[in-house]
Amino acid sequence: MPWRVPLADLDYGEAEQAAVMDVLRSRWLTMGAVTRELEQRFAALVGVRHAVAVSSATAALHLACLALDIGPGDEVIVPSLSFVATANAVRYTGAQVRFADVIGPHDLTVSPASIRAQITPRSKAIIVMHYAGFPCRMPEIVRIARQHGLAVIEDAAHAPGARLDGTALGAWGEAGCFSFFSNKNLATGEGGMLVTDREEIARQARLLRSHGMTTLSWDRHQGHAHSYDVVGLGYNYRIDEIRAALGLAQLDKLARNNARRRAITLEYRRQLAGLPVELPFQDAAGEPAYHIFPILLPPGADRADFIERMHTAGIQTSIHYPPIHRFRLYYRRHAQVSLPITDDVTRREVTLPLYPTMRAEDVSAVVAAVRGSLKDRG
Ligand SMILES: *Cc1c(COP(=O)(O)O)cnc(C)c1O
Repeated sequence: MPWRVPLADLDYGEAEQAAVMDVLRSRWLTMGAVTRELEQRFAALVGVRHAVAVSSATAALHLACLALDIGPGDEVIVPSLSFVATANAVRYTGAQVRFADVIGPHDLTVSPASIRAQITPRSKAIIVMHYAGFPCRMPEIVRIARQHGLAVIEDAAHAPGARLDGTALGAWGEAGCFSFFSNKNLATGEGGMLVTDREEIARQARLLRSHGMTTLSWDRHQGHAHSYDVVGLGYNYRIDEIRAALGLAQLDKLARNNARRRAITLEYRRQLAGLPVELPFQDAAGEPAYHIFPILLPPGADRADFIERMHTAGIQTSIHYPPIHRFRLYYRRHAQVSLPITDDVTRREVTLPLYPTMRAEDVSAVVAAVRGSLKDRG
């Protein structure tokens, strides 16, 4: 640091500052009118009946599992190529995961055939993850789920504003889970959203996000209630009004910023064509959210050396992701699982900088550094 081109950057300005100041002046800091407005506008964006704002996507995933009655003795099929929270959320409930492989180097989303191969009598649900905001094969995955009586949860942390066949990502399954973490397409610092068309899932999520209490401080403040009962073992997964206000300001920018991410992605693909790297998702379906820009180095390339050279050129990169089944927490139980494509692509993947305020010269600088870093040493 400082990077010539960082991996990600916020598009924050006066709108975000004004939104926060309005909340501070209102003297109501948590789960009130601003949170409700964010929920309503997010539900409209995704085209679902219910949106429940929470403290993170991890919390949303946990609540989705709980609302679907997933628990000890159950199994949930998840991609190993995801952020660890996708699997951890299942484990919080006492259930176990089974890992599915991804489709191939050209499509890093979970493979429907691999999902099918992981179904057992204990299977209760499938969690898909829309990698980089590119749609999973939802029609086929939903069909498999229906055939086997499984629920579908979408980890849509990368995918706010993305669509497939006219339906928003997050609205295909029983529940969709979004992240508003600092580096996501819609950033509030920490935060998340659970969306669903199912009344009962929304009701459970609302209850469990706030200690299983039947009324909120807000309801009591409004004079709607005086006391409360506790009807389930809930959590504190609430969001606050400050972050909800940031979310509303960022929501106003989402369509424009997703379009900018798309333009930068297309420019990267144009400039990288001809270099010995693979560019996944070149024939992706639908309208992706272009959250990150992954490339795959040639087989056998020294990734650590490549990343080090990029670093020296002032370019921040990342890896999405070390596969979950190789983490010590998971490895022992899952040592036997065969995920050849995940093992291959996760050894070769490097994520290049992508953010809506990236300039043309930043893209060219990254591409020049990629070209230089791929050359043989010496
Ligand atoms: C960021 C992310 C999460 C976790 O989101 P938090 O809001 O930080 O809890 C889960 N899954 C994926 C794929 C992510 O990228």
